[in-house]
Amino acid sequence: MARRPKFVPRKRGLAWAVAGLCLALLAFARGAFVLFRPVPDSWQQGELWVDAALTLAGIALGALGYWLYRRDLIVDRVTPDTFLTRAEEAHVLEEIRRFEQRSSAEIRVHLEPGAVADIDAEAKAAFERLQMTQTRDRNGVLILVAVQEHAFAILGDVGIDSKVPPGFWDAITRDLSEAFRRGDFAGGLARAVDTAGEALAAHFPRRGDDVDELPNEISRR
Ligand code: CA
Ligand code: CA
Repeated sequence: MARRPKFVPRKRGLAWAVAGLCLALLAFARGAFVLFRPVPDSWQQGELWVDAALTLAGIALGALGYWLYRRDLIVDRVTPDTFLTRAEEAHVLEEIRRFEQRSSAEIRVHLEPGAVADIDAEAKAAFERLQMTQTRDRNGVLILVAVQEHAFAILGDVGIDSKVPPGFWDAITRDLSEAFRRGDFAGGLARAVDTAGEALAAHFPRRGDDVDELPNEISRR
């Protein structure tokens, strides 16, 4: 596997957040000192509105900075190399490993680098390309993420369709959509793999002679 550049989130928003919260803290501390010191100074007490305004401005700045920081984290994650940090990728891979300990089904995550017009067609093409139709029980599952669009598709092979009820993927799809909207890409993927593993273990329990039919890695091309 090619080495990927280390993911470094932009810190601009975080710097604003820290500066704003420092300002809020200093203004609040000065106001508290003026109010509660043993010999009050009536003139300085009269100026307390300045501290109150500075505190509020600092809190607003901190909130704005935090919002910018969160937004930057999401905006940056539009290539297969930056979509997941290394730690997050390890987390998702661990869930894939756990999935395949419970079930004979095989699950893969693919991060599609190009722009995707029709996500379902893209998922079907990737399913063939990654040779996911080659499993003995036709029970491969692909989660394809179009990283530029932050869109995804979940595709199960025909062996799964013949056993599970209609709408089997609906709840997982809904949860993953919700996680992606929050920018929780790794957590959403890990939960989707975990939930799918739990559900599929009932239909495709792992057998003693289980083989790892599809590599447990996140593909990017
Ligand atoms: Ca297996
Ligand atoms: Ca596997």
